[in-house]
Amino acid sequence: MGRAFVYVILGGGVAAGYAALEFTKKGVSHGELCIISEETVVPYERPALSKGFLLPEAPARLPEFHTCVGANEERLTPKWYKEHGIELVLGTRVKSADVRRKTLLTATGETISYRVLIIAIGARALKLEEFGVNGSDAENVCYLRDLTDATRLVNVMQSCPGGNAVVIGGGYIGMECAASLVINKINVAMVFPEAHCMARLFTPKIANYYEEFYKSKGVKFVKGTVLSSFDFNSEGKVTGVNLRDGSHLPADMVVVGIGIRPNTSLFEGQLTLEKGGIKVNGRLQSSNSSVYAVGDVAAFPVKIFGDTRRLEHVDSARKSARHAVAAIMEPDESGEFDYLPFFYSRVFTLSWQFYGDSAGEVIHFGDFSGTTFGAFCVSKGYLVGSFLEGGTKEEYEAIAKATRLKPPVEDLAELERQGLGFALTVSQKPSPSSVVEVNGSELILERPLYAWHATAGVIVAASIAAFAYWYGRRRRRW
Ligand SMILES: Cc1cc2nc3c(=O)[nH]c(=O)nc-3n(C[C@H](O)[C@H](O)[C@H](O)COP(=O)(O)OP(=O)(O)OC[C@H]3O[C@@H](n4cnc5c(N)ncnc54)[C@H](O)[C@@H]3O)c2cc1C
Repeated sequence: MGRAFVYVILGGGVAAGYAALEFTKKGVSHGELCIISEETVVPYERPALSKGFLLPEAPARLPEFHTCVGANEERLTPKWYKEHGIELVLGTRVKSADVRRKTLLTATGETISYRVLIIAIGARALKLEEFGVNGSDAENVCYLRDLTDATRLVNVMQSCPGGNAVVIGGGYIGMECAASLVINKINVAMVFPEAHCMARLFTPKIANYYEEFYKSKGVKFVKGTVLSSFDFNSEGKVTGVNLRDGSHLPADMVVVGIGIRPNTSLFEGQLTLEKGGIKVNGRLQSSNSSVYAVGDVAAFPVKIFGDTRRLEHVDSARKSARHAVAAIMEPDESGEFDYLPFFYSRVFTLSWQFYGDSAGEVIHFGDFSGTTFGAFCVSKGYLVGSFLEGGTKEEYEAIAKATRLKPPVEDLAELERQGLGFALTVSQKPSPSSVVEVNGSELILERPLYAWHATAGVIVAASIAAFAYWYGRRRRRW
């Protein structure tokens, strides 16, 4: 026995929430759409788990951060799904899929069939055991991927006030958790094999800034080595961490953030895979035309760079989900997904954004002894990536727009001299026509035709920007 739906979203994370909202905007009928998720709650903004959720005072709790509040859109509570006739199959893992028969088999033994499937099953946290270290199941060893993990992390943190935490991994999760632990007055040592934190994105100079900031908050860095084993007490709790370089760290708790692996196993041998994810085209459609993939699990063509990439960031999950739904519901009106990669993080009082690609030569700019600095990435004579810490809303918009325009950079020394001013100038420059050719891809720019249109436009835009800024400061950010 089973149920049949026109549209099924497999997975109930960030992409699922944004896809559901888009389906309702495009006029899905009651009873047509179903979401199947292993999690017991409706989709939420996952980034909140390593930020607001871990705060000691007034921590964020559901229903506060259900999707789609992260993009200033509606907050989709269970009631919202009910009112829109969206079937929720929560707390249910899909254990096999048959894309030829268009069916999914759940762990409870139900067969759910679809006409169109959107795969939004994200990724799972890599376990220490996959690197030959045992101890993941100790009660004070924490991972952070979902609400259950985050709730456990909070409980463990509260069980050892003023204690010692060892954070394994110097990436996103490690850095954000370390900051939250410090805010909770826990002593933190971070251990990672690389020469500096955020090794995949930060340059040594940028990483040094954050590491010094963390050190000023009491964080200890142990770099260039890895975990080799844990010490346990008689109750099976971890009491210490042994490192491959022979050193030892005391531990009342351990947080592991050593990377993720996309959840592709259900579809291996059925769909084409690439870059560790499910390969899709510019419509987010997989090698089976009835199956779409979005978010962390999808490897999609990034037009601006002319290659296929799999991203592990919330903005791409949100936008790929929306685009897939548009491609399904309005196939003639939706074009190819044209995405500019965007990542961000907020720790302590710091906040950075990155747009584009971290390829090529890096030109740093700004005041690294102050609060605002950044870097440009220049590849084959074009600006391809921009990083900015401590920017204003306008400055972040400028680096995003400049990176999207991919302007030529002839003189790196001049780029360094101009710094952020380069992005501000490029982003404001009126283009000779409303269509700019950027390395083979067309970018439509809005340009008022008459002067008074321009003036009115500027006034309206400024008012909207001022309101958005004021509103943004009032509401919590995820
Ligand atoms: C703690 C944390 C903080 C983050 N912070 C940031 C940040 O600051 N900035 C940023 O850009 N990105 C951040 N990210 C990354 C971002 O959250 C992800 O890129 C985003 O959640 C991906 O969305 P998704 O829908 O593809 O996958 P997910 O949100 O992971 O959702 C996948 C869903 O599928 C379900 N699922 C998986 N397998 C099955 C199955 N077999 N059957 C049923 N259901 C299944 C899962 O239970 C889950 O509900 C963070 C991630 C984490 C974990």
